[in-house]
Amino acid sequence: MTVPRSHPRYLSLTTRDKLVEGWENGLVATQGLIAHGRGEAFDYLIGEITTDEARDAIRAAAATLILAEDPVISVNGNVGALSAGDIHILTTRLECKVEVNIFHRTEERISSLVSHLERHGIENVLGAEPDSNIPGLDHARALCEKGGIYSADVILVPLEDGDRCKALKDMGKRVITIDLNPLSRTSMTADITIVDNLTRAIGALGEEILRMKDDPRNELIRIADGFDNHENLKRTLRRISARF
Ligand code: ATP
Repeated sequence: MTVPRSHPRYLSLTTRDKLVEGWENGLVATQGLIAHGRGEAFDYLIGEITTDEARDAIRAAAATLILAEDPVISVNGNVGALSAGDIHILTTRLECKVEVNIFHRTEERISSLVSHLERHGIENVLGAEPDSNIPGLDHARALCEKGGIYSADVILVPLEDGDRCKALKDMGKRVITIDLNPLSRTSMTADITIVDNLTRAIGALGEEILRMKDDPRNELIRIADGFDNHENLKRTLRRISARF
């Protein structure tokens, strides 16, 4: 059924449709549908808007990505199904690499995801032929590419799980995540957590990068280094409490 634009939950319903389509096309794992449900519940709690706290995190993320020497965006099935077009825009603005990395890894899902990203204009997608391991993780989740995630200095990894986020931090990387749950292990472990719906945050991040790209380096450093993730998460939790 086509959702009419006038429906008050148009965005939420069409996002679900995109995920179901991604599931039917083999991009999204069944478990990915459940993970989305958890995200939706938190989206209600923040009011389904990009909050002031998320805006501050997006600015810090934009500054960090512009300053990075070798940034990589890590993409899983849900992220690819929902935001491939916006990720393509990010890669053109940052000249960064994209690597697919999925929790429930099968070769079929990896190759469907790579083809999907390529159809959206993203070139040289990494991750299909891993040649390295992230230390401290079990085999399938550890797989990565030496020229991608393994050697990156900054990683944007939306919708990550806590163990992998910690393992990336232990490798000395700066980790930026997008996660609607301010209490998840990932949110609390990352250097910068954007508590916002992926479908709003990736586009907003792309716009911020465009605005800040030519800002003086010392100003970008001030914004990136001045961000306090724990304080920002606390502000988000206060917002949620106030809504209750
Ligand atoms: P962790 O391991 O970090 O404690 P988790 O086990 O809850 O967290 P997963 O199930 O691996 O994490 O990943 C799902 C996470 O992604 C959830 O925290 C959920 O809130 C978040 N999420 C799901 N859909 C979206 C979305 N569209 N935008 C932003 N975040 C989302």
